[in-house]
Amino acid sequence: MNQPENSQPDRQRLLDSMQAHLSSARRSGIRIVGLSQSAGRATAAAAPAARETLDSVRADLGACTRCGLCGSRTSLVFGQGSQRARLVFVGGAPLAADDAAGEPFSGPEGEMLTNIITRVLNLTRPDVYLTTLVKCATPEGRAPAQDEITACLPFLRRQLAAIEPSIVCALGQVAAQALLGSDRSLDELRGRFHRAGGLLIMPTHDPAFLRVHEHRKRETRDDMLMIVRELSKKASPF
Ligand code: SF4
Repeated sequence: MNQPENSQPDRQRLLDSMQAHLSSARRSGIRIVGLSQSAGRATAAAAPAARETLDSVRADLGACTRCGLCGSRTSLVFGQGSQRARLVFVGGAPLAADDAAGEPFSGPEGEMLTNIITRVLNLTRPDVYLTTLVKCATPEGRAPAQDEITACLPFLRRQLAAIEPSIVCALGQVAAQALLGSDRSLDELRGRFHRAGGLLIMPTHDPAFLRVHEHRKRETRDDMLMIVRELSKKASPF
């Protein structure tokens, strides 16, 4: 009678031979890694790091009391727009109308920014993301102080990391200086792109400034046209 394939004696010889090979490899200093162990490691290495969401950044801010501006706010004005925006606008601080509405760029300054977005950039507000350096309105609309910016800036950085925009437009000197880590005036900074912290940044005038200095609107229009050109380059398949 024929022996069936892989009979008991054959299997035993095979096991003995494998055992001998493994023992010899160990004696030679070769480390034997179990299949399940190496497969687990490969899975862990291949798993991409989870990208943060705007919701998780907002959840971490909570009812923030990290700086003194918490005492005078009505609303914490986190931001508004698309998490997938290619363009993010960053102003200095929410104004009184934003504090009342709980949304950034809500008053006449917001209306001016909306006009720029629709008429010059040919986009809509929901296409972009709007936020500010500090998330709470300052008393009498003063510029945010350095300690307030320092307390709030990590959350703006996390918002930008969650969105990964192509371009960040810094509105006004305070936002531009904080994002660029510069002490230069806005007149020195605007009119060209800067690279800082992995971001492509275009500084320009704040809508509140433009309401008072209407003759400077042309400069912001020029800055916006540079943004339009840059966005169209990035959209090109060639
Ligand atoms: S400005 Fe920013 S850090 Fe200060 S209380 Fe508001 S959310 Fe917190």
